[in-house]
Amino acid sequence: MTNPLYDRLIGDRRDSDAVLLHLPEGGTVTYAQMAARADRIAGMLRARGLAKGDRLAMQCPKSPEALALYLACLQSGVIFLPLNTAYTPDEIAYFVGDATPKILVTDPAAEAALTPVAQKAGAALLTLDGDQHGSFAQAVAASEPVTSATPCTTDDLTAFLYTSGTTGRSKGAMLTQGNLLSNAEVLTETWRFTAQDVLIHSLPIFHAHGLFVACNVLMLAGGSMIWLPGFTVAGVLAALPGATTMMGVPTFYTRLLDSPDFDRARAGHMRLFTSGSAPLLAETHTAFRARTGHAILERYGMTETGMNTSNPYDGERRAGTVGFPLKGTEIRIMGQEGQELPCGETGMIEVRGPNVFKGYWQMPEKTAEELRDNGFFITGDLGLIDADGYVTIVGREKDLIISGGYNIYPKEVEQVLDDQPGVKESAVIGVPHPDFGEGVVAVLVPETGTTPDLDAIAAAVAGKLANFKRPKAYFVLDSLPRNTMGKVQKNVLRAEYAEQFD
Ligand code: ATP
Ligand code: MG
Repeated sequence: MTNPLYDRLIGDRRDSDAVLLHLPEGGTVTYAQMAARADRIAGMLRARGLAKGDRLAMQCPKSPEALALYLACLQSGVIFLPLNTAYTPDEIAYFVGDATPKILVTDPAAEAALTPVAQKAGAALLTLDGDQHGSFAQAVAASEPVTSATPCTTDDLTAFLYTSGTTGRSKGAMLTQGNLLSNAEVLTETWRFTAQDVLIHSLPIFHAHGLFVACNVLMLAGGSMIWLPGFTVAGVLAALPGATTMMGVPTFYTRLLDSPDFDRARAGHMRLFTSGSAPLLAETHTAFRARTGHAILERYGMTETGMNTSNPYDGERRAGTVGFPLKGTEIRIMGQEGQELPCGETGMIEVRGPNVFKGYWQMPEKTAEELRDNGFFITGDLGLIDADGYVTIVGREKDLIISGGYNIYPKEVEQVLDDQPGVKESAVIGVPHPDFGEGVVAVLVPETGTTPDLDAIAAAVAGKLANFKRPKAYFVLDSLPRNTMGKVQKNVLRAEYAEQFD
């Protein structure tokens, strides 16, 4: 009897003394120790009556124990629901009410606020902090370990992962063992991960990037992770000498570049830096290469599908693109009349492959809207495939601006604005306009210590972009609103400037 994902990630290494986690405070956790921790947690889950197909939700600080909890759920066939640590009790109430887990594991600091939430949803509440304190540890200590894994197949559901909620209410994507395993296998191969790899893990583990891309790939390869509680420049600088690889969101890389201590001497020995979850500016790619000699490898994915494309390991990593479809994953670009578009034309990106999820939990209509009968998932992202096969993401369909009947891709305008002197970054949005339907609004973030000359910028834009694409209003902000994955929240900006053209 097998449990394919559990076996491949840890079950096959139950007796291995190889290091899985390097802890920043010193010390390590081996594969065997992690498997034993998961056994004890699996014992607690069994004692509490959780069986295959039941759900467990976790909103906890990142810790080795939180990773062990994920593995214990895999081992037990329990569906794991990691929740963003930034969510408020009201938000947690929605997720817990929606997914009806039998257990909700939370930070002790949230216990008072979440006790009524758990009670209402019929879930038992257990507390776990970053140091293995709380009622979770007590419950685990009181249970007999389980040393076997519940038999599962690749079709069994293994996690409900909620989307980041960038474009609306988060949706629970139902992921199977096969979805996660196939994606981890192809990424391990594409990015050449081996047991010799040491990954700087500074991502959160409530998201596909930190949990399924980073942890699953490293465990499948038998490598190890420097397990940082979160991203700080100092933490990554200290970890670099002992590491071979790092996975990050674009803001990690811009923040490293802001530090003069981040240089070739510190980063030159690394094998690979990857980026995803949000667009990496071509400018960041170029600056990173000039500083370290490394071309960041950008890839593209989402909660519902895991990873879909990647720049090549060998061969040109083309800045501003997300590379080629991964082996086994098909990508097509569709036009508005439902026709497949030829290379070079921009349309809706659709994805099919073993990585594509089973649907949104309890949202059959939403699932039917986005998942075609032929298996293609309609991603909501607009993009194109060039003559060489590289995929470029142009933006989200929901961020597309339609002004005076013309389509405007915000990215095209943002690229012009980002090139202007004194502009660090920009966001271009459409807000209601009485004549044009939507009017283009530009939000600029200045380089530190500069004040952008808006007249000069408007004049430069006029020289580069057709009239209908030019912003009709400019605003300057110290920073763009971002969620915890570094994604710009354009819906927040649209709400802020909604009445601009009234
Ligand atoms: P929601 O679906 O709830 O609105 P979300 O789409 O932001 O939220 P995620 O599944 O976390 O939730 O993010 C996937 C999205 O992130 C993709 O659809 C794409 O828009 C964006 N993305 C991921 N990687 C890249 C990348 N390399 N370049 C550009 N965009 C990316
Ligand atoms: Mg999405």
